[in-house]
Amino acid sequence: MGRRRKGRKIRVRVKKKLPTLFQCPRCGFTTVGVSIDKKLGFVTVRCSNCGLTYVFEYNQYLQPVDYYSRFLDNFEEGVPSEEKSEELPAETPE
Ligand SMILES: [Zn+2]
Repeated sequence: MGRRRKGRKIRVRVKKKLPTLFQCPRCGFTTVGVSIDKKLGFVTVRCSNCGLTYVFEYNQYLQPVDYYSRFLDNFEEGVPSEEKSEELPAETPE
């Protein structure tokens, strides 16, 4: 128990800036990307396969996976996808 095997090297530190992809609830492909725009203060979660898109306010404490879970929530709730809109989302101030 607890013995370290030295002959076995596992390279773990490969990921650096790879885009994080998640599975799309609509088309089933793992093509959902999270792009965070800190300057404009919003986060776009978009499936590059079917175009399902939701935009969220940027929150520095959230991880991409958190936006993804909101993405899933929106989809479950039937929130219309923003795939076609080019204007900024008019979020209600908190
Ligand atoms: Zn999709």
